[in-house]
Amino acid sequence: MLARRELFPNVIEMNHQARRRFGCCVYLVHSGTDWALMDIGYEDTVDEIIDLIRDMDFPLANCRYLIASHADADHVQGLKRASELLPAAVTVAHPDAKKILEDGDRIAAYAEIPAQQISINMPIFDIQKTISEGDKLELGDTHLEVWDTPGHATGQISLRFGNLLLSGDNIFRDGCVGGIDAHHGSDIPAFIESLKRIQGSDVDWLLPSHGPAFRNDHKLLQATIERLEGYQHMADFGTCALDWPLLDEWDDELAKGTSPQD
Ligand SMILES: [Zn+2]
Repeated sequence: MLARRELFPNVIEMNHQARRRFGCCVYLVHSGTDWALMDIGYEDTVDEIIDLIRDMDFPLANCRYLIASHADADHVQGLKRASELLPAAVTVAHPDAKKILEDGDRIAAYAEIPAQQISINMPIFDIQKTISEGDKLELGDTHLEVWDTPGHATGQISLRFGNLLLSGDNIFRDGCVGGIDAHHGSDIPAFIESLKRIQGSDVDWLLPSHGPAFRNDHKLLQATIERLEGYQHMADFGTCALDWPLLDEWDDELAKGTSPQD
């Protein structure tokens, strides 16, 4: 048997387990004989990840859920393959993510970025169970609690497990956030609300979908929230911005007949 390297009690992260980077974080949460996976990453790493899980003595028949934090290709491209290897597991996502995945919406899933010649395979598959705010996923003698945390993407959920939050692409250890992109369904005001909720919660640890886990640090969250509040008024963020104060200033200057030398 392969020794389990628990990141926190009852939580294994597969990159951490393997001590090398597969791709996005792949969280295995277990309780009793049940276990579940949040995000599986790209298709070409699925077999290796499932082999590691088997080697850690988790019976494959005991996987209860295959959960998509959101519909991005780098998180869920491998879900179809994983569900073939784990037929007892129910595929789970937010209704908005289910729609993207079942419609094969390649733009919203970041599988197709024509301007950058990015075009990757995105298998279409069924999401068997939808979850949203307040739902609980029963697991052994405990449960995972669902939070709706949109902003980076529509239909992004986080999962609370005791004092841990599997926090998706809301915030990373360096204060970066998941990409903000209109074609992807990003919503900056919703993003700020999701971050404020995380900041104001009594969750102690954030387990993001990229990079290492870190403390739910008020200052780090505050700096990120303030940065995004600024984004709402910056042309840099195109149609994701709410307004652009320079244009109001320009209106005034045009009406006054101001010239650059004034
Ligand atoms: Zn991501």
